[in-house]
Amino acid sequence: MSIKPLLAGERRGRLDINIEALCRQASRWFRIQRIVGVYPVLDQGIDQCLVAWVDGRERVIAVRQETEWLINVPVVVQEDSPLHSIEELGQAQRELTQAGYGNTLQLQSVVSGKQGIVGIVRAGGIVTRNWPGNLVELPAPDGCQAEVRWLGRAWVGGFTETYSGNWWPAVPSYVEGNEPLFEGSLAITVDDCNDPDIMRGFLAIADRLGARLTFFPNSLYVKMYPEVWAEVLGRQHEIGYHTSSHSRGDWSEEWLEQDFSEFEEAVHKAAGDEQRHVRLVRPPFGLFDHGGWQSWVESKGLTTVMWDRSVGRDAWPYTISGYLEREGSLILLAHTHMQDLDWFESNESFLHDLAGRYTLGTVSESLLREGIPVRWEGLPVGLAP
Ligand SMILES: [Zn+2]
Repeated sequence: MSIKPLLAGERRGRLDINIEALCRQASRWFRIQRIVGVYPVLDQGIDQCLVAWVDGRERVIAVRQETEWLINVPVVVQEDSPLHSIEELGQAQRELTQAGYGNTLQLQSVVSGKQGIVGIVRAGGIVTRNWPGNLVELPAPDGCQAEVRWLGRAWVGGFTETYSGNWWPAVPSYVEGNEPLFEGSLAITVDDCNDPDIMRGFLAIADRLGARLTFFPNSLYVKMYPEVWAEVLGRQHEIGYHTSSHSRGDWSEEWLEQDFSEFEEAVHKAAGDEQRHVRLVRPPFGLFDHGGWQSWVESKGLTTVMWDRSVGRDAWPYTISGYLEREGSLILLAHTHMQDLDWFESNESFLHDLAGRYTLGTVSESLLREGIPVRWEGLPVGLAP
C-alpha cells in the first residue's frame, strides 16, 4: 500500500473531516503532538488518512473507509496478504476456536467489515502493552514468525509457528477490565470451581442471561469433573489457568511451566481436543507480582486477567452500576461458593438489565473485539512496504 502526500488544493474542498473530534478520540491511543495532514490512500476501501506527529514520528491516526472515519485503522498490509478469501476466513475462525476463543465472533466481509489495526514492527515482532502499561515489542518466539490476520471484526497480530503453521493471536499480558479495549463489556469470571453442582448453577444462570463466562479452575477440579468441563467448553465458555494448588505466590517460572502444561493436558482431555490452547491466566489471590508469575506470563504470550469487583466483597448492584458508568466496562469475580451463586440468583433481574446494555462475553471475546493489542501503538507511516 502506498501513501502519497495530498497535493496542494487537491480534493481538499471535499474533505468531510472533523480533525478536532478525531484527535479527541485518537488521543485515547496516541500522544498527538501536532497534525501533519490528510493524505489520500488507496487500499481496500480506505481512501484517506489523517497523519499526526506522535512520539517523535509520523503516524496514521485515523483513516476514512467508505464514508466513515475510523481511528487507527491499518495502513500496513503485508505484500503477500491480499484480501482474504472466505475459505481463509473460515480457517481463521476455526483456529480462533481451537485457540480457546468463543466461536461466536462472526467473520465478515473483508471489504465491508474491516476495521481495527495491528502492526508488525520493524524487528518482526508484535507491539503490545505490558503491565504497568508500557508499550513493548513482543519478539517472535523461537520458531515463529509475526503475522497479522483478519479475524472478523479486527486485524489481530499474532505468531505463526513455522513448523506447525498454528497461529497464536497476541494479546495484552495483563488486563484488569477497565481498559478501553473492554469498553461495553461486563465479563463474569468464576474462580476455583471446586463444586460441580454450583458450577452447573452458574451455567444455568449464564444460559438465562445469554452470557458466556470465563472460569479459572484449579487443575485438580478439571481432572476430577471432566464431564462438567466438557459441558462448559461445549457451550463456548472459556477456561483459564489458576494453578493446581492455589499456592501463595511462591512460584518459579519453571514450576509454573510444568504446572501449566499439566493443566492444559487436563483441559485437552475434558475438551476432547488436543489443539485447544489456554490463553488466560489468573494468579491465586491476584498475586501477579509475586515470584516469576508475570515474567512467565509474558514469555508465554499469555494474559493475566485481574478483576474490578468481587462478589461478597465489593460487588453490589450500585457499585457495579457506578463502576460501569464511570469506566465503561468491568471484570466481575465470583467463586464457586453457595453464597456467590445466591448473589447471582437474587440479582438476576439487575444482571438481565445489564445484559441489554453490555456484552456479557468471555474475556477473550472482549480482548479480540477491538483489534488489540497493537491497536495501542498505531503504525508508523514509513512502515508500509
Ligand atoms: Zn482462587
